[in-house]
Amino acid sequence: MKTNNVLTLILAVVLLGCQQKQPKEAAPAASTMAEVSGNEDFKYWTWITADANRDDSTYVAEFSKYKNSGIDAVLINTGTDPELLGRLTPLAKQEGLEVHAWIMAMNRPGDSVALQHPEWYAVSRDGNSCFDHRPYVDYYQWLCPTRKPAREHVLHLVEELAKVNGIETVHLDYIRYSDIFLPVGLLPKYDLKQETELPEFDFCYCDVCVSEFEKIHHKNPRELSNPAVDMEWKQFRLNQIKAVVDDAYDIVHKHGKKLSAAVFPYPEMADHMVRQRWDKWNIDMVLPMIYHNFYNEEVDWIGFATKQGVEDLKGSSTSLHTGIFVPPMTADQVVQAIVLAKENGAKGISFFDGNSLTTEQLHAIKATK
Ligand SMILES: [Zn+2]
Repeated sequence: MKTNNVLTLILAVVLLGCQQKQPKEAAPAASTMAEVSGNEDFKYWTWITADANRDDSTYVAEFSKYKNSGIDAVLINTGTDPELLGRLTPLAKQEGLEVHAWIMAMNRPGDSVALQHPEWYAVSRDGNSCFDHRPYVDYYQWLCPTRKPAREHVLHLVEELAKVNGIETVHLDYIRYSDIFLPVGLLPKYDLKQETELPEFDFCYCDVCVSEFEKIHHKNPRELSNPAVDMEWKQFRLNQIKAVVDDAYDIVHKHGKKLSAAVFPYPEMADHMVRQRWDKWNIDMVLPMIYHNFYNEEVDWIGFATKQGVEDLKGSSTSLHTGIFVPPMTADQVVQAIVLAKENGAKGISFFDGNSLTTEQLHAIKATK
């Protein structure tokens, strides 16, 4: 559980190492606040990671701090522990917060059930399994979405969370393949150049994926001279992830809950980087991680990426809530991001993560309500 808590921080945070200094910044200008206020339907969220060893009183204080800062909803990572979620949910609701059950879906580091089944893990184009050979970082242990028992295991975990009284959504994270391309801003840390699809980062070439693909398309992906340009092979993998999401949607709705997910910044980018095409999914809410600093972009890119996703979702019932990475941002930039998200059609904004929100940022967030 302790190990899991550490591991459950999402990739980027660990990769960036959270080394940046917290900026001290004056409160945002009144004109900016006037621009952003006055929309009660615009939801403020934050992602948090729970620890079963903490006392209830510390959670009550944390939830109260969020509520008093204008935050409406918490996405709680319990390391897929329905019991802990059941303990924390009434505490958060008591403070006036919505609760969302955050789960690491296809990347399941240290999953004691999955580890009994080495064949469930995704296999790279150069033949290594995530079971014992992890791409990029030690906590990358991806399951194969095509293998039925692996999928059923993930969906069972989703269902156990969906049964917890009082939660609003089950929130899928890592609902994708391992990164074929890392965010460009993170490459120097690994001394990596990724100008083509490299075999060690290309998944999944396990026997089941190969045979299922061959049944449909009569060719073997292991024998493709350049798999990166084979559209059927790309589409097959997009469809495998979509199938897991669509099944999860039916399961959580059966329990009277909704489905949300943390996704890559906008659909084409998600497709390119991690084989994730979230505008095609059956899902109630998406929270794209529009972390401009990972991509060496400026704050205005948050508006651009938000708009891309909102346009792609037109005609669907999925709402989009912009996710931002707060550690390197000034309080004023956080307010700018809220304005950009709203102006470009998001229905809310989510802050990663609750623990790293500074007092200045929390004051600025509250002032926009
Ligand atoms: Zn596979």
